[in-house]
Amino acid sequence: MTDFTSTTDSDGVAVITWDVPGKSMNVMSMEGFATLNALVDAALADPGVKGIVITSGKKDFAGGMDLNIIAGMRAGGAQAIFDGVMNMHGILRKIERAGMDPKTLKGGKPIAAALPGTALGIGLELPLSCHRIFAADNPKAKIGLPEIMVGIFPGAGGTTRLVRKMGAMIAAPFLLEGKLSDPKKAKAAGIVDEVVAPEELLARAKDWVLNATDADLVKPWDAKGYKMPGGAPYSAQGFMTFVGASAMVNGKTQGVYPAAKALLSAVYEGALVPFDTALKIEARQFTSVLINPSATAMIRSLFINKEALEKGANRPQVPDQKVARLGVIGAGMMGAGIAYVAANAGIGVVLIDATPEAAERGRAHSESLLDKGMKRGKVTAEKKAEVLGRITATADYAALAGCDLIVEAVFEDPKVKAEVTAKVEAVVGADCIFATNTSTLPITSLAKASQRPEQFIGIHFFSPVDKMMLVEIIRGKATGDRAVAKALDFVRQIRKTPIVVNDARFFYANRCIIPYINEGIRMLAEGVEPALVENAAKLVGMPLGPLQLVDETSIDLGVKIAKATKAAMGEAYPDGAVDEVIFWMADQGRMGRKANAGFYTYSDKGERLGLWDGLEARYPVAEAQPDLAEVQHRLLMAQVLEAVRALEEGVLTDIREGDVGAILGWGFAPWSGGPFGWLDILGAARAVEICDGLTERFGARFTAPKLLRDMAGKGQSFYPGPTAQAA
Ligand code: NAD
Repeated sequence: MTDFTSTTDSDGVAVITWDVPGKSMNVMSMEGFATLNALVDAALADPGVKGIVITSGKKDFAGGMDLNIIAGMRAGGAQAIFDGVMNMHGILRKIERAGMDPKTLKGGKPIAAALPGTALGIGLELPLSCHRIFAADNPKAKIGLPEIMVGIFPGAGGTTRLVRKMGAMIAAPFLLEGKLSDPKKAKAAGIVDEVVAPEELLARAKDWVLNATDADLVKPWDAKGYKMPGGAPYSAQGFMTFVGASAMVNGKTQGVYPAAKALLSAVYEGALVPFDTALKIEARQFTSVLINPSATAMIRSLFINKEALEKGANRPQVPDQKVARLGVIGAGMMGAGIAYVAANAGIGVVLIDATPEAAERGRAHSESLLDKGMKRGKVTAEKKAEVLGRITATADYAALAGCDLIVEAVFEDPKVKAEVTAKVEAVVGADCIFATNTSTLPITSLAKASQRPEQFIGIHFFSPVDKMMLVEIIRGKATGDRAVAKALDFVRQIRKTPIVVNDARFFYANRCIIPYINEGIRMLAEGVEPALVENAAKLVGMPLGPLQLVDETSIDLGVKIAKATKAAMGEAYPDGAVDEVIFWMADQGRMGRKANAGFYTYSDKGERLGLWDGLEARYPVAEAQPDLAEVQHRLLMAQVLEAVRALEEGVLTDIREGDVGAILGWGFAPWSGGPFGWLDILGAARAVEICDGLTERFGARFTAPKLLRDMAGKGQSFYPGPTAQAA
């Protein structure tokens, strides 16, 4: 069995069918490419073959290149990558030229692509090299080039062909943002040529092949007098496009994503030269991206490992625990969000609050989200009614009787939570799993209120629940495997990404994010220019600077957490310098965005204007400012060292969860693949050297954990690398 097979019908059309054995979605491998190449050669050489249709034996065309292969290519070195990519270009270019005379452009065999469904990445680059693209009218199909989302860019001619087909400006959202379209929108954009009824797909493609003329096979860029739509770089329009695009890309990426810059270079330089040279430039830029460790790290965390976690990489071996009926206690901000995502995924929900009115307000949150969806044309009236119909809002705990999972999201108060636990357990069945959404209280101590601590677990959502993709599952000391499996199966049902961690102060995500915020505030107190702190964070790939982040989460939450942590830690509490700043901010009434006043100032409409100038009077800016790298090292190390400590202490048991959780949970520099990915890019030895320098200047919080120091001594990395062995 091979990935591609070919049959030639009596009409003389060779149908090459892509159907990777044993997979539900086609992905391209090197062997697959070689088979395709041989079949194309055979069809072009066979005088009995009039033309070719390339299609799929599955409901979709293809999901793209096998990313495991791409992630592994770096190990082979630059020349091998470049040669491999050029080989791919050669095959696709052969399809595009289809045996025609290069001078007269006559005598080629027509080749059409027939896409039954989704066509992504190489699954679109291959059709783009064909002479005509037919897509089945399948509204669920997604068509596009999403490579940029995992830190690479379309490197099998997709970049060069799309830009030459539609112009740089119109191609920009598809290439730079990885925008995907359904077949009709893809046709409107000019990506596919025809959208046809699914049952007619093959016949229509064959029909075209049998009737195509020589002129139909010539791509615009191979024809005389070709001009790039929207203008080449050195034209009035082109100047506008490329100046704008460079500014946009740098503004969005802050220069930390190598793929976006390389893509833009490939487009710009490629537009200045003939087509075949442009392909070479594309290959060279693509090679530079694959050689950069960021690409491997991003593919690893954002694709391979994220998917592995979603599929249950760390799920205990327990029979299916899919949730049939969910109870949510507390219909506030979090509870209402949890009820919505569950109902949206088809789960019946009982949403409880102290009064029927409060419960109803929680249900109204779903209504408002569904209304927003309707306005954007994403939700139909039927769907809205269906989802709302799944939520029963009530104050009556007896309604929980048939629930098999409870998620408690009441006030962050152990006493209230204990009362709720007892009330719930009095009405639910003995098998029901009880989860708390607490963000700060230890699961093990909350479980003491439960009759069945082995069925008690933490399921920690992030706010806003409908947008944030990470769910942190926390095992208390007594939590059993079935509870973990239940939580994982629930997260899978609602299509989010889970990590499973052991119980410790602030679990994993908050444990790492709090030191980041604190380090930013410390620097402010030391006299570091606040704009330097904020920009340093963004320039190293953090979505928000630490001061902006406090404004978003609110100063009073910071004060509350600081007080509770201090009470719990006593003498060992290390963050007095930070508290001084946030307590002072609270005294000034600058509670953050919600008060329209925090470290930043805001307009009446809530737009963020700039850093508050009142900071300077209290925390004068020092004459000597640190350099950018030092500020960045402090901000990143503050987070990363917590991640390593969490691993050392067994709070994290899998670095994949540490990395995926960091990117999805708090936006940790995605270009680095996560905290462990970043340490691997630095190398353990360099990381320890940075820690030693920071410890000397700023104190023991930067002490390199033993694990890291040992790894440095042995030349190890967290993940296996081209040169280092995994620890
Ligand atoms: P919230 O104040 O918005 O909502 C709490 C709700 O619980 C209120 O509607 C309240 O009426 C209800 N409630 C209180 N006691 C109750 C009882 N005995 N029976 C039924 N309902 C009761 O709070 P929130 O922000 O949604 O947080 C809820 C929980 O989620 C807390 O444990 C919090 O730490 C945690 N959490 C919050 C966030 C966040 O960003 N806000 C993130 C993760 C976790």
